[in-house]
Amino acid sequence: MQTEFFIDGRWVAPVAGATLPVINPATEAIFHRIPAATATDADAAVRSARAAFDHGPWPRMTGAARAAVLRAIAQGIRDRLPDLARLEVLDNGKPLPEAEWDIGDAAGCFDFYAGLAAELDGEVETVTLPDARFTAKVVREPAGVAVAIIPWNYPLLMAAWKVAPALAAGCTMVLKPSEHTSLTALELGKIVQAAGLPPGVLNIVTGLGAEVGQALVDHPGVDKIAFTGSVPTGARLMAAAARDVKTISLELGGKSPFVIFADSDIEKAVEWIMFGIFWNQGQVCSATSRVLVERGLYAPLLERLVAEAEKITIGNGLEPGTLLGPLVNEGQYRKVLGFIERAVAAGATLATGGKAAHDRGYFVAPTILTDVALEAEAWVEEIFGPVVCIRPFDTEEEAIRLANETRFGLAAAVMSGDDARSERVAAAFRAGIVWINCSQPTFTEAPWGGYKQSGIGRELGRWGLDNYLETKQITRLVSDQPWGWYLKG
Ligand code: NAD
Repeated sequence: MQTEFFIDGRWVAPVAGATLPVINPATEAIFHRIPAATATDADAAVRSARAAFDHGPWPRMTGAARAAVLRAIAQGIRDRLPDLARLEVLDNGKPLPEAEWDIGDAAGCFDFYAGLAAELDGEVETVTLPDARFTAKVVREPAGVAVAIIPWNYPLLMAAWKVAPALAAGCTMVLKPSEHTSLTALELGKIVQAAGLPPGVLNIVTGLGAEVGQALVDHPGVDKIAFTGSVPTGARLMAAAARDVKTISLELGGKSPFVIFADSDIEKAVEWIMFGIFWNQGQVCSATSRVLVERGLYAPLLERLVAEAEKITIGNGLEPGTLLGPLVNEGQYRKVLGFIERAVAAGATLATGGKAAHDRGYFVAPTILTDVALEAEAWVEEIFGPVVCIRPFDTEEEAIRLANETRFGLAAAVMSGDDARSERVAAAFRAGIVWINCSQPTFTEAPWGGYKQSGIGRELGRWGLDNYLETKQITRLVSDQPWGWYLKG
């Protein structure tokens, strides 16, 4: 485990010498300390990225040469999959099989963007102009120095979603992981070093958002900000970016609906509702936390759902068979329990769940709330825990209206035996990610991002690469005829 930052290809101690504790959420034990950066460390990281972009080889290399390094990073992650997954469990709490899945996906993300980097070579688009005296071509170039600020729910995977496309495009980057889960991001520094990434192309600093995160987004040497996290922090970053007109992409929260029609298979509905909200302890921006069930299926589905939710094995993520680990930290634990208490006080029924029976650790049981009023906090706000609100509906129109009645628009899901109806509802959802007959499966190839207050821009796929590219037109005068504006022939 690292105790220093990765800046300019070297490991360096924090200038002020401060550290932050790393707490295992399953045991509440402090098992490590990470360095806490100040504005001075942030400045050193940005200067290093700036120099690597302005004078270094990375943006000037061919896409194919960058792809070779990205593939070596992917392999470096894969070679260390077991120990990176274990670190992720210690830091974040998630069950080990989920962590292994995340680390494998992170490696796959570097491979995918290696492929797109190679495709950038020689990419030139010709534009046909209405004036034969001119020709024009369009090329795409790296956007510059990017800052990535990421959350704690998928620590290494969220880093990969930003670092891989940025590096593929030829950008240089400063990565600031969440102060709650920085261990695997720091290990990424070792992996990129071994993969031969030139110094300064990726810099990694850890510490508090308000301190080092704010210093990074305020830094005049930064061209682009890529953020995933909460809406208030995203809005704050957007205001900071506006001052210097920096480009910004935001992936924020959600309160995503899952509409289940009565012609659905009840077992499949139970499975996907649970995967949609209990996977990763519900700490998923796209979690389908509002479930709408057609009235005919509502009572039997609720009964099956409660029965299955109560069977989920809760425990330390390292224990075999665990399907639900602790929440990431004490703050989130108290926050989620507070949401449940206030929901019940406001009239909701706790069908199952609440505080889990564990002496230690931040465990919240899979929680199902019914009778939640449409204007109640639990129906409207992102809880970011294993808490689902479920209610009946009568018509397709009502389901669509209720699904879209939210300030968010990240994801939405629909299940029905009638494909034409599913397609109709999918088309009517105001959300960037729509699942039919499932909830949550995510592929690196497909665009990821939200409508409304769920964010700006798209990550993943070729859309994720576009985030880190500038577009340049080059227009040439090819006619020998005089222009004849000032110099009259
Ligand atoms: P947050 O938005 O405060 O933090 C996310 C990242 O932003 C962290 O790396 C943090 O250090 C950084 N940050 C915070 N303040 C900053 C600032 N002023 N300048 C620059 N960077 C700053 O989220 P959180 O406190 O970790 O979690 C709070 C809530 O956010 C959760 O309860 C949940 O609702 C939501 N959340 C959403 C996602 C998502 O993927 N959409 C992920 C995590 C949390």
